[in-house]
Amino acid sequence: DRPAPTSAATPAVRLTAVTKEFGALRAVDGAELTIGEGEFFSLLGPSGSGKTTLLRLIAGFERPTSGRIELAGREVTALPPSRRDVHTVFQDYALFPHMTVEQNVAYALTVAGVRKPERLARARAALRTVRLDDHGPRRPDQLSGGQRQRVALARALIDDPGLLLLDEPLGALDLQLRQEMQRELQRIQRATGVTFLLVTHDQEEALTLSDRLAVLDRGRIVQTGSPLEIYDRPATAFVAGFIGTTNLLRDQAAVRVIGAPGTYSLRPERIRIVAPDGPKDGPKGSEKDGPDGAPGPGERCVPGRITEIAHVGAHTRVVVRLDAGDDRLTAVRLNSTDLPDAARPGAAVHLRWNAADALPLRD
Ligand code: ATP
Repeated sequence: DRPAPTSAATPAVRLTAVTKEFGALRAVDGAELTIGEGEFFSLLGPSGSGKTTLLRLIAGFERPTSGRIELAGREVTALPPSRRDVHTVFQDYALFPHMTVEQNVAYALTVAGVRKPERLARARAALRTVRLDDHGPRRPDQLSGGQRQRVALARALIDDPGLLLLDEPLGALDLQLRQEMQRELQRIQRATGVTFLLVTHDQEEALTLSDRLAVLDRGRIVQTGSPLEIYDRPATAFVAGFIGTTNLLRDQAAVRVIGAPGTYSLRPERIRIVAPDGPKDGPKGSEKDGPDGAPGPGERCVPGRITEIAHVGAHTRVVVRLDAGDDRLTAVRLNSTDLPDAARPGAAVHLRWNAADALPLRD
């Protein structure tokens, strides 16, 4: 037998066939997942899809019904949280109200019996990392929500955990603070190099922050990939619908012009809108067009009627109801000069796209 190939880096997390049942309910169903050392990884899914349960299994607050959990190459499936090199940051911060910020941050070191001078030095360093250098003597009720969240982060990072679990850590913050803290999270993760595993139901948050993410649907991991892969090539109709920025072509009357029956994803920015008699600027309107402005080779062309036009910032968003079937497709164009002259609600138009841009989705 040849030895199995070993990868240079041991992953921070490896789940093999992890299942968790609560009575008849399968909250996590056969999860397979590998998270690299130093990655910023997110679990994304709607409410009830099993994200928190998966996180609690990794933290050790729950035991799997079956399957195997390894952290940094060590099996921990049956170990309690205290014997895993992991900290968790919760949405409600869970700070000790009677302790100062510094005492909160140093807590893990106090429990571990680290002496006071070293404790203080390390608490101050952790507070510097989260940019709260001069807030050490305050108590949690003298801080804003964003500042409390930073204290919770500093406390979780104080003893250099191999893995930091973050359960909707920004869920309690208003939008502006949330966006500011997203940038902070990213900066702190890069500065510390600690592997971050974030649970969120916010698509934009997961896509902006993560190196990679897994999308969950009813306890199953349905797709794992980089934000670009998930955005560009959703694997299933659920992922495409949940990410929510693509068109789903599912009415079989319209799908017939595309190819095999099924559901397809078609990104709004890949759709051109032309007048029924061809592009307004004639045969040379686009290198994509064939002679006389007819669809070029490999281009699909489908008739429909505009139902909505909106100018959103720098681009124009046009919704078209296809003549065949019930599908509505949204097209996004950067220039309004890219639209036929008669583009207004009710106008008949043709939608064109490259056949290769309509991606078949699994069920
Ligand atoms: P949310 O975004 O709402 O927190 P989630 O994706 O984190 O949702 P989980 O909290 O993991 O989902 O829950 C997954 C399923 O497991 C849900 O149907 C939930 O009701 C169920 N569940 C979770 N914990 C328990 C438990 N201790 N006992 C019974 N059922 C549970």
